[in-house]
Amino acid sequence: MYDVAIIGGGVVGGMLARELSRYQLSVVILEKEYDVAMGASKANSGIVHGGFDAKPDTLKARLNVRGCEMMPTVAAELGVPYRNNGSLVVAQDEESLAAVRELYQRGVENGVPAITVLDEAALRELAPAVKGIAALYAPSAGIVCPYTLTVAAIGNAMDNGVELRRGFGVDRIEKTTDGYVLYAAEDTVETRYVVNAAGVHADDIARLVRDDYFRITPRAGEYILLDKEAGCVVEQTVFGAPSKMGKGILVSPTTHGNLLLGPTATDIENKEDTATTYEGLQKVIGGANRMVEGVPVGKAITSFCGLRSTPDRYDFIIEPSPSNPHFLHLAGIESPGLSSSPAIAEYAVELLGQMGLALTKKTDFNPIRERVDAFRHLSDEEKNEIIRKDSRYGRIVCRCEQVTEGEIVAAIHRNPGATDTDGIKRRTRGGMGRCQGGFCQPVVAEILARELGIPLQQVTKSGGSSYLLTDKTK
Ligand SMILES: Cc1cc2nc3c(=O)[nH]c(=O)nc-3n(C[C@H](O)[C@H](O)[C@H](O)COP(=O)(O)OP(=O)(O)OC[C@H]3O[C@@H](n4cnc5c(N)ncnc54)[C@H](O)[C@@H]3O)c2cc1C
Repeated sequence: MYDVAIIGGGVVGGMLARELSRYQLSVVILEKEYDVAMGASKANSGIVHGGFDAKPDTLKARLNVRGCEMMPTVAAELGVPYRNNGSLVVAQDEESLAAVRELYQRGVENGVPAITVLDEAALRELAPAVKGIAALYAPSAGIVCPYTLTVAAIGNAMDNGVELRRGFGVDRIEKTTDGYVLYAAEDTVETRYVVNAAGVHADDIARLVRDDYFRITPRAGEYILLDKEAGCVVEQTVFGAPSKMGKGILVSPTTHGNLLLGPTATDIENKEDTATTYEGLQKVIGGANRMVEGVPVGKAITSFCGLRSTPDRYDFIIEPSPSNPHFLHLAGIESPGLSSSPAIAEYAVELLGQMGLALTKKTDFNPIRERVDAFRHLSDEEKNEIIRKDSRYGRIVCRCEQVTEGEIVAAIHRNPGATDTDGIKRRTRGGMGRCQGGFCQPVVAEILARELGIPLQQVTKSGGSSYLLTDKTK
């Protein structure tokens, strides 16, 4: 019998698990996929928004501003790269200038620090490649790697006693006198409290306990990622003026030194459809070129799509179930959910306390997850020192991103360990460079087979039946 079961191993479930691991509680994360960060938390813009976009007096506004304030410390504790690069919302005509002024007012009301409207000359000086007549500048905004943050939050929660069950897709929930039994295909979990952090499926989970009062629509956002050679065309995150469908196309550096263009915003029906489309990517290119001069679109190395969990109300749905005691919904967490995630976790713990969960602090909670700097960023002396201790760091496996065998082995054995080649990608960047794994994937698969003690044919790309090999052909 667990105290709390969290359904969903995204950034929201992960941050909450970490927050709960400060207390004397038994906590389990149930994730339907074979790794964590497999939903929206792996495919988004990675922007830590300042907090000017959300309407005042909403949870979105409050938790965004608080999350943005918390993020530098949380990222540092978790050893995750974060950069406070600031953001610009660009006005290109009088109509969008009115929208920028409205955002400024909201920002002031929401308490966004040091927010200001730059005129054309000031904008040129700050960001010479940006085309606009004015821009809203939020110096408190930043960028973070969303899947690294999620993996690290869950890893730190596990180091502090939280359990993770992968491949546990909750498909039935039964109320008992003490709490709930959660069923997956071949497994069950008993718990006193349940938290629904199932992203785009949060309404499906709610319906399992007969909460049929909100709907989540998947809203697709397509992106193009440019090679590191594309360089820093812009230093800040640059947005166009927003519409009712979202914040518009952005051009932004990533914490890994790439340039990210996107996302689109299209409501779809299929909650698993993360395909990119020709039309979507054309929109991304058009939007990026309209805002920034000299975007080297030809340096694209990949495209991807993420699904926002768009609720049928304006705000995040963060509330206890009206009809089920000890059941908390964290639903409709669309953007700025990544930015807000540490604050959502803090607020969810407060709500769980109000719902009767006993919160006694542990004395041995360790907020620190050791930062492991990528081998490629070390000095020659540091590299030699590590290779002397472990020769596997002397073997480069991913040539594009210069990832060593030692780093891949460490990613397999560190909480939450990678079990497939995509998991290695997200933890080490091995396979994320220009060739997108064309050269290194077979070697990564061999290392996975060896370290996990499984036949090579059982190694998968992303769990389930996504096998890389079938059998010998000759
Ligand atoms: C295109 C796009 C751009 C965005 N840009 C930004 C941004 O720049 N800044 C920002 O702050 N926010 C941004 N967001 C929002 C942010 O990505 C989300 O708010 C955040 O990732 C939500 O996290 P989550 O944990 O709620 O959901 P998810 O990451 O989707 O996690 C939910 C998890 O639940 C699991 N699950 C579902 N059903 C079940 C089940 N039955 N049993 C067990 N597990 C289940 C899923 O597999 C998944 O892993 C963006 C989102 C998108 C899609």
